Amino acid sequence: MKGFAMLEIGKVGWIEKDKPVAGPLDAIVRPLALAPCTSDIHTVWSGAIGERHNMILGHEAVGEVVEVGSHVKDFKPGDRVIVPAITPDWGSAEAQAGFPQHSGGILAGWKFSNFKDGVFGEFFHVNEADANLALLPDNISPANAVMLSDMVVTGFHGAEMAGVKLGDSVVVVGIGPVGLMAVAGANLMGASHIYAVGTRPKCVEAAKFYGATDIINYKQGDIVEQVMQLTQGKGVDRVIIAGGNNDTFSQAVKILKAGGTIGNVNYLGEGDNIKIPRVEWGVGMGHKQILGGLTPGGRLKMEKMASLMETGKLDTSKLITHTFYGLDSIEKALMLMKDKPADLIKPVVIIEY
Ligand code: NDP
Ligand code: ZN
Repeated sequence: MKGFAMLEIGKVGWIEKDKPVAGPLDAIVRPLALAPCTSDIHTVWSGAIGERHNMILGHEAVGEVVEVGSHVKDFKPGDRVIVPAITPDWGSAEAQAGFPQHSGGILAGWKFSNFKDGVFGEFFHVNEADANLALLPDNISPANAVMLSDMVVTGFHGAEMAGVKLGDSVVVVGIGPVGLMAVAGANLMGASHIYAVGTRPKCVEAAKFYGATDIINYKQGDIVEQVMQLTQGKGVDRVIIAGGNNDTFSQAVKILKAGGTIGNVNYLGEGDNIKIPRVEWGVGMGHKQILGGLTPGGRLKMEKMASLMETGKLDTSKLITHTFYGLDSIEKALMLMKDKPADLIKPVVIIEY
């Protein structure tokens, strides 16, 4: 079978591989919809996870089951499934401790295009199928559902970590697809003011659709000054970080009220340390919490997020700005993600058989 792969850091291309084999608990799936991710770009062009040779890329997929292992109970060939980006080993100590994302080691619940071939191939392997696949509801299109694999759960995880409560004021830094889902998550969780930080017009328009009450352009002035002005010097209850750089942490601490929480899902690609401003962190006593997490995976999470779409409470279609057809076009979609033109939020690739 063929797949689109990272050949080495900075280099991608098509390769031939053997079709994967399902163990007793696993499934083999062929893709119906795929999406490239900013994380794929970091993997290839920033060397974010270190060197990898001839590893098929991709971790966002909706597909059709073509084969299941002898112990798989709930799925059979022909089932259309949502595949989470993170597919933990559910029996691990880390999963039992409540952090399946880190099953087997820090971030090791992320297997696709990290520890094994990803989903940008004719077929891909899913470990622990009963725990890591979810049936695709009939009334959700594969294109809209592929946003569940990573974008929805990641953005929502930012909102969950930040602990958004009814009436809270929230800043969401970054309104790419992840930040937009953080806005949507904060909105569903009952936030009042949602200050969304970003500039690209398409993203700004979508941020308003998903519940942003104010837009902050970080290129036209300091985020801290703008938030403090908008909140009459009070700051906000929660900050969700889904974009920016290491300085964003300092800004987030400065705009947070005492007792507030930061939920970070942004990838930190540079520097050895993150600076926490001493005075604004209450000289060590401000009860300002900082949490950062990898997106959750697994079946239950996918089913719950899908049910938000089924009931019309979440519409992911506004994230999709570019649609391609056929596995071959994954290359074009990935390069689009790398170049991030101003009119891009997220591309998807639809595969029909
Ligand atoms: P995008 O690149 O599409 O969006 C980034 C956003 O950050 C844009 O809105 C951009 O604004 C904004 N931004 C850039 N620089 C600054 C700055 N200096 N200050 C404030 N805002 C800034 O990324 P994605 O939405 O695809 O992904 C966001 C992050 O989430 C990435 O780091 C990605 O790797 C990570 N990620 C993490 C996962 C997890 O499990 N935790 C899973 C998936 C992704 P502008 O409008 O100007 O472009
Ligand atoms: Zn992703």
